Amino acid sequence: MASNKTYTEKERTIDVIADVDVLVVGGGPAGIGAAVGAAKTGASVMIVENMGSFGGMWTNGMVITLGGFNCWLKPYRRCVAGVMGEWIAMAAKRGGAEDNRSWVLSSDPEIMKLTADEILTKYGVKCLLHTWVADAIVEDNAVRGVIVENVDGRSAIMAKNVVDCTGNGDVMARAGAEFNIAEELQPMTLPFFFAEVEPQGKIPMEDELIIPKGPEPGYLGDVGLSYSSRRRDVGVDVNDPALAEAYREGKLPFFGGPWFGGLRRNFPWVNTTRVYGSAINARELTDCEIEARRDAHAIADHYRANCKGFERSWIMNTAPTMGVRETRRLVGEYTMTRADLVENTTKADSIAMGVWPIDIHPPKGQNGAHDMYVPVPYQISYKALVPVKIDNLLVAGRCASTDREAMGSMRLGATCGAMGQAAGVAAALGAQTGCTPRNLDYKTIQSELLHQGAIIE
Ligand SMILES: Cc1cc2nc3c(=O)[nH]c(=O)nc-3n(C[C@H](O)[C@H](O)[C@H](O)COP(=O)(O)OP(=O)(O)OC[C@H]3O[C@@H](n4cnc5c(N)ncnc54)[C@H](O)[C@@H]3O)c2cc1C
Repeated sequence: MASNKTYTEKERTIDVIADVDVLVVGGGPAGIGAAVGAAKTGASVMIVENMGSFGGMWTNGMVITLGGFNCWLKPYRRCVAGVMGEWIAMAAKRGGAEDNRSWVLSSDPEIMKLTADEILTKYGVKCLLHTWVADAIVEDNAVRGVIVENVDGRSAIMAKNVVDCTGNGDVMARAGAEFNIAEELQPMTLPFFFAEVEPQGKIPMEDELIIPKGPEPGYLGDVGLSYSSRRRDVGVDVNDPALAEAYREGKLPFFGGPWFGGLRRNFPWVNTTRVYGSAINARELTDCEIEARRDAHAIADHYRANCKGFERSWIMNTAPTMGVRETRRLVGEYTMTRADLVENTTKADSIAMGVWPIDIHPPKGQNGAHDMYVPVPYQISYKALVPVKIDNLLVAGRCASTDREAMGSMRLGATCGAMGQAAGVAAALGAQTGCTPRNLDYKTIQSELLHQGAIIE
């Protein structure tokens, strides 16, 4: 994209449109956790989101199989509650989400959007949609606010503490915090909904809500659960060997899974397109989005022509934005690693629990399902949310401080939301006491999280 030309912007004075205790950037699961967590702690909170609705990947990325709530291993139990638990309960009450002990909870993205609005407004969070955070305001090594762009033009929002929940770590990068990025990133996926599919499965949807088989408690082997746990309870029959054959013969574009899900019987959702590039490079992201949309239609055409039950099907909608699995990872006061998950190290400053397998989608050339490593539920350190260098900034969600393997598990939505809640609580406590998040006593954060119903051990 770059030409050799440059242009120097003129200096200008802009309006400060808000001055709050806690500013949350990004309205995905982490951002919702952070904003509500901070508001419940008593802070004045604003949340800024680039899209026209909240929910991040869970809504606008159309990732509808909400994961990270429940343990994969017996006893199947809830490991993320708090704000995420309240949100899912609100959605379930409207018939828009499962709320049980399954390894994923299928949801309706429209109800998740609606209930995201409801939970944010219920706790008095000031919401700003359609607003892009373009820069961080940094003075004396501390973030003081951000520069935003929206239909009103360019303005500033000031805050005592800022929580970066952008997934990509846009605020931390612009603030000059250290971060890592892998040379080879996980593929991106544009999920889509089919309409008018005739289910072929004999299993009623309710019967498979609990993972049908899995290792016993404490199991830490290398077995890939991804095949046995394939979510085919929506009754679709796409004939996996035939798909693999069609791909080999060049009749199908590259694909992952396919993983199906959804709450509506004739309208299954599928996570299957698989494209490679960097989501923090606008040119590559554009190319990937175009490629994935083309692939989605090619895959749907193939199913319609070859798979029983799909004869009358069509694509009802692709996700409003590309599903991104991996970009920047903070260098934090602590980095969560594969060893933390595999060895299940105890964390005195635990602020959330992770449960999902180490789920790293494979590099180019490998389609279909992939093996995953299933850890027992593990604790997440508060310090993984605290940048080593920059003050008044916390980083939660997909861009928290992890190695690639730990991120492969911690990137799941509910885990991101739980990290977000902790970051919001810490940001609020910091604003109230004047203590920088780095120096907060983790016990006060834990005590407030427990008070808010979060699970930390
Ligand atoms: C295809 C795919 C399948 C997945 N499968 C599952 C699954 O089955 N279950 C599950 O739970 N998780 C799954 N995940 C992972 C999970 O959805 C995400 O990792 C999780 O949503 C991350 O949460 P987050 O809040 O950190 O970031 P996000 O959900 O990405 O939210 C970040 C938000 O910040 C906004 N934003 C970004 N930059 C800016 C900016 N500069 N200014 C303003 N706003 C900004 C974005 O618009 C977005 O709303 C999947 C992910 C993908 C891509």
